[in-house]
Amino acid sequence: MGDIKFIADIMVGRLARYLRMAGMDVSYNNHYDDAHIIETAKAESRIVLTRDALMLERRDCKNNTVKYLFIKSSKLCEQLKQVKNELGLKLEPNLIRCIECNAYLENVAKSTLEDKVPPYVYRTQKFFMYCTVCKKYYWRGTHYSNIQKYFDKIRKEQNL
Ligand SMILES: [Zn+2]
Repeated sequence: MGDIKFIADIMVGRLARYLRMAGMDVSYNNHYDDAHIIETAKAESRIVLTRDALMLERRDCKNNTVKYLFIKSSKLCEQLKQVKNELGLKLEPNLIRCIECNAYLENVAKSTLEDKVPPYVYRTQKFFMYCTVCKKYYWRGTHYSNIQKYFDKIRKEQNL
């Protein structure tokens, strides 16, 4: 599972962010065009996530030089279910990757953060992670709990 890597097209940007929340390696940038996506997928053995039927018409998709997953639904929860099912992934939120840029997050000592995060967060959180690219801090706050609930909900709906 750790070896599965994706590249997402502009139509599934939200899905890309949610997969990153589960620690998946998802290359995504809203400036990427189809040709760049295909070339990167080939060079880095990434699975293309797309909702664009034209993408599937490209030679590298047609002759399977590039692996792809055509995302059927426009709804995020259905998209996550499809990716989970078709690739047999277990999706749990974690603080492994930056949601914005896909970089690995680094551990950061709480003692260095007193003036860098909101006081309530500083008082209530023990563990912090940091993206050196975006200069952004991550912690398991309300947003994280909500993501966890969202993934739980998807798991429960699938087990019905
Ligand atoms: Zn980042």
